[in-house]
Amino acid sequence: MIQKREQLIKEANIEVSKYIKGETKQIVDTALDDGDWSVVDISEDVSLGRLSAQREVMVKIDAAIRKLDEGTYGICEECGGKISEERLKVIPFAIYCRDCQEKIEQLEAVEKELPI
Ligand SMILES: [Zn+2]
Repeated sequence: MIQKREQLIKEANIEVSKYIKGETKQIVDTALDDGDWSVVDISEDVSLGRLSAQREVMVKIDAAIRKLDEGTYGICEECGGKISEERLKVIPFAIYCRDCQEKIEQLEAVEKELPI
């Protein structure tokens, strides 16, 4: 399980590096070490879109690490079913099984199309 945690953190680093560099990256590294994401703040040179994508990934990774601690890692948040080993290999921080993820994405797509 410790190995899995390390793998997740490594994955988090890779994901986060895609969005941020330099000083902000160090803050994220610290957050990953401490598990305290509140120190991660908005960097001026990060555009809003990239920032929200980055935050989304961080929230997911944070949730996955918390699940590791709770012993519920690999269990779908929506239906309580097991997330396949294959899926976790591709997306180590997946919190939904494929069926539920697809349902959620469909719902989100519908919501986006609705007029405000
Ligand atoms: Zn599910």
